[in-house]
Amino acid sequence: MKDLIIIGGGPAGIAASVYAARKRLTTVLIAEEIGGQSTVSEGIENWIGTVRISGEDLKKSFKEHINAYKGDVLEIIEGDRVEGLEKVEGGFSALTRDGKTFTARAVLLASGAGRRKLVAPGAEKFENMGVTYCASCDGPLFSGADVAVVGGGNAGLETAAQLLAYTKSVTLIHRHSTFKGDAITVEKVLAHPNMHTVLNSEPAEVLGDKFVSGLRVKDRTTGEETELPVSGIFVEIGVIPNTDFAKGVVELDEIGRVVTNPKNQHTSVDGIWAAGDCTDELYHQNNIAAGDAVKALEDIYQWLMTH
Ligand SMILES: Cc1cc2nc3c(=O)[nH]c(=O)nc-3n(C[C@H](O)[C@H](O)[C@H](O)COP(=O)(O)OP(=O)(O)OC[C@H]3O[C@@H](n4cnc5c(N)ncnc54)[C@H](O)[C@@H]3O)c2cc1C
Repeated sequence: MKDLIIIGGGPAGIAASVYAARKRLTTVLIAEEIGGQSTVSEGIENWIGTVRISGEDLKKSFKEHINAYKGDVLEIIEGDRVEGLEKVEGGFSALTRDGKTFTARAVLLASGAGRRKLVAPGAEKFENMGVTYCASCDGPLFSGADVAVVGGGNAGLETAAQLLAYTKSVTLIHRHSTFKGDAITVEKVLAHPNMHTVLNSEPAEVLGDKFVSGLRVKDRTTGEETELPVSGIFVEIGVIPNTDFAKGVVELDEIGRVVTNPKNQHTSVDGIWAAGDCTDELYHQNNIAAGDAVKALEDIYQWLMTH
């Protein structure tokens, strides 16, 4: 039985692996793919210590960092995924798609999340060609442009607020006629002179040639369609955490995120921690995922030494 199983190889899982290895904890890292969500990005400009790094280079640097510790204490399983997790005598057992079983005294869940994707003709074709799922990553590329935000929840409103700082205009497409977000934020965002809303509507088609040139939206009551000439479409319709294997093991919130104590990343179960986008952490960023994982590792180390 090892000390620790880390599930996930994004910034959270990689940071945890480095810390675990340096603390000489016997660890297995199981990751479907090393790198995490932002590896598809052309340029990441807020990974602290690098002015700009491509997603591919971030992935390479992650691999280089963990490979430096691979060996006696750190075992790396890439290309397999955890499909079951259960309590066993003295710890936990993770079962993988390839039929392997790993057991350890402690577990860190770092399996991240995927963005809920926009389902409309053209949405997939124009992903990263104007359709984007990360305003803080891609927003500055649309400086001075007319853009749309899809989604009227808090994330959509915050994205709109962020984009208003440098785009020419922001049009928010919302499925409902009223906003549920907190009143002050809603009022402040909607009062901006460059802010427009299309309510009770949803995207019908993403338009463009090589890049996005517009968005066709449909009124949900009248069926009437209008075309918005925009070059960027920011989709904020929710995230889907990768936590199916943890259902019934740890407490999850109503959308499947692992409920954690933000002081130490502990879950509802003694011996299991979680970090990054699979948790109920409010903000989704690489540095936050890595930082939360480091916090978890400090706590896991203390726990292992005292149990
Ligand atoms: C297009 C895009 C661009 C982004 N750009 C930026 C940016 O510029 N700056 C920034 O700070 N943030 C950016 N983000 C957000 C950032 O990528 C996430 O906040 C961050 O990746 C979360 O890290 P994580 O380790 O929690 O999870 P993830 O990055 O989601 O990694 C999850 C890991 O778990 C693995 N996994 C999932 N399920 C299983 C399983 N069952 N078994 C084994 N392994 C599993 C995956 O293969 C992956 O290795 C971007 C996000 C997107 C979508």
